[in-house]
Amino acid sequence: MAASRKVASFRLPPLPTIGEIIRLYNLRAEKQLSQNFLLDLRLTDKIVRQAGNLKDAHVCEVGPGPGGLTRSILNAGAADLLVVEKDTRFIPSLQLLSEAAPGKVRIVHGDILTYRMDRGFPSNVARKWEDEPPNLHVIGNLPFSVSTPLIIKWLENMSNRDGPFHFGRTRLTLTFQKEVAERLTASTGSRQRSRLSMMAQYLCTVKSCFTIPGRAFVPKPQVDVGVVHFTPLAEPQIQQPFKLVEKVVRNVFQFRRKRCYRGIEMLFPEARRLELAELMLRTADVDPTLRPTQLTVPTSGRWPTPTAGCAPRTPGSPRTSSGTS
Ligand code: SAM
Repeated sequence: MAASRKVASFRLPPLPTIGEIIRLYNLRAEKQLSQNFLLDLRLTDKIVRQAGNLKDAHVCEVGPGPGGLTRSILNAGAADLLVVEKDTRFIPSLQLLSEAAPGKVRIVHGDILTYRMDRGFPSNVARKWEDEPPNLHVIGNLPFSVSTPLIIKWLENMSNRDGPFHFGRTRLTLTFQKEVAERLTASTGSRQRSRLSMMAQYLCTVKSCFTIPGRAFVPKPQVDVGVVHFTPLAEPQIQQPFKLVEKVVRNVFQFRRKRCYRGIEMLFPEARRLELAELMLRTADVDPTLRPTQLTVPTSGRWPTPTAGCAPRTPGSPRTSSGTS
């Protein structure tokens, strides 16, 4: 009889539970490093499923800690898992996991905010930006203290196509405080619409996956947690440097309850504030009476190079309160 061509998928051998690992290595959670652990492997499996098919994938996990999510990533079939952990106390238990999955786990003791992910994977992982995303995923149950600066940094990397996006449109599956997750995914007109919504959504498709109640973590945080999936857009909705977009969006949202022209005015020197804000809004064909939360990101067309200090609207592209963002 011909041998079956079906290759058995990888499963980790029996290991101590995450709770046992925590006790064995005396891994008391450090508040300073926002350590809230997930012990339930069904929950970590559920997070990992949001990333999509991980068979033979390269994965970077942020802050593996005692390794619950790490186990789920390995059981999902990842071929190459790079974990970046700041706290040395976790390294021995991660080494145990590495021995249980020979050749699959690379451990980096470092800070994800400064780690050069563009050097972390072989060049053959890369895909052209316009092509399908590479078989490379970033996954993490992020420390709260790092999550907002980290996603802003990665959005800038996305815009510049460097860092994790040196390899193409790398997908991210990450946890945030529920309130931050809601802001990242908020659509035009919603109460949570903010700077973060605009910055994330002009660069990627952002999907809210599910909420994890705080009680699922050890120790229990004050808040619930949202899982968010990001896929970079082949063509960003605004074709301008990240820092410029950030500056405009920050100004617009600094008076979030006022009409949008109030924030726009602050972009300009006091002496010519009214005149230039009016010119900018008129050139961009934006209704100055809209609130910041009502502004959309155009869903088609490009924002050409600015003239007279503002980005004019491409004829035909939407710019006001209706439509998606
Ligand atoms: N992944 C584990 C889990 O789900 O149970 C732990 C998650 S815990 C919320 C965050 C982890 O990130 C901790 O292990 C913490 O030590 C680590 N961490 C905190 N700041 C970090 C940083 N700047 N770079 C890398 N890891 C960091």
